[in-house]
Order: sequence, then C-alpha cells, then structure tokens
Amino acid sequence: MIGDTIRSARTIEQRRTFLEELQYFMNKSEAEQAIRLRGRLPDLEEFWQYRIGTSAVRVVLALNSYCNDLDDVPPEVLKDADYCSLLDLTNINICAVNDLLSVKKELAQGAVENLVAILFASTGSTALASHGIMEIVRASKIRFDAKAKQFLQRYAFEDDAAHVARRLVEGCKFYSTGNLDWRYVLSCIFRKLTGTHH
Ligand SMILES: [Mg+2]
Repeated sequence: MIGDTIRSARTIEQRRTFLEELQYFMNKSEAEQAIRLRGRLPDLEEFWQYRIGTSAVRVVLALNSYCNDLDDVPPEVLKDADYCSLLDLTNINICAVNDLLSVKKELAQGAVENLVAILFASTGSTALASHGIMEIVRASKIRFDAKAKQFLQRYAFEDDAAHVARRLVEGCKFYSTGNLDWRYVLSCIFRKLTGTHH
C-alpha cells in the first residue's frame, strides 16, 4: 500500500532516497542484532551508531516533503548542511523520547538495548540515567531551534524556498511531537482495552 502510493507520488530520485533509507534501517537492525548476539550491552558510542538507523526516523523523514505537500523541493535545500543537522537532531530527540517512554515495556520483554538501561549501566544510578536522557532531549531541542533559525534565515529572502524551508522545519517538529502523542494515544487505547487506569 505504501509502495504503491510512493511510486505514483514521488520522482525516481525521491524514491531512490527512500529506498536508501530503508536499506540503512535494515543494515543498522542487523548491526543491533549482532551486538545482541554477543551477549553484552553496547556502550553509548556503539549504541548511537545503530540506534539512529533502527529508529527508522530517517525512513519517515525521507517523506517529510511528501507529508507536507511539497512537490518541488530544490535539491540544494534538501542537501543543506543545516537541514541535515535538523534531521539528525529530530532523530536523536525521537530515539531518546521513545526509549524513555518504552523502557518498562522493553525491559519486561527482555530487550535491554534501551538508552535508559545503557546509561544506567554506565552510571549505576537510575536518577543519573533519567537525568542523562532528559539532558539529551533538552540539548537536541536547543540545538534544533538554533539550527532551524540559521536554516530559515538563509532562505528568508527567496519566497518559494522560504516557504519550503519553513514547512520542512515544521515537518520535523510534527514528527517529534507526533512520536510523543502516538505513545500517549497507544497508552489510552491500552487503558481502554484493559480497563486499567495507570
Ligand atoms: Mg523503544
């Protein structure tokens, strides 16, 4: 269903980018599995190397222009170094928020490659681990806002590009808040289905 839609709505270059991101996701999932089979936790550096791929955030960000009704995004805007930083910061923000919100469920399922667990392993303290993850979320937001300002200023005097740049920045923000909302929606559905109130 997704493939059919993308095939008819996107150019060959846009589809190629989407495919490359899917391949990146698969490669990083394989790397995560290899580390899991090794039988010990990754350190923070190893973790981030695959997590930004296994999050699949880059896959959905490859559809940022499509989801925001932008057909003709100038290639130089998509390749803009600040825009690339915005994609990375959105990815980090979503990974950290996701890991924080899903840590209980994941640990219960025996999936220990979670950022909270990895920070706990290196600090020996749940307080330091949760503080560490909130710092990552906070820093990603501060850096995102600074990069977004820089990015938008650069295209401020070109009408079409300014509109596109603004929509792309908004799109990144929607992915971040959508990630947060989606967890909330899921927990509401879960509560409804199970009749629990916690
Ligand atoms: Mg998770």
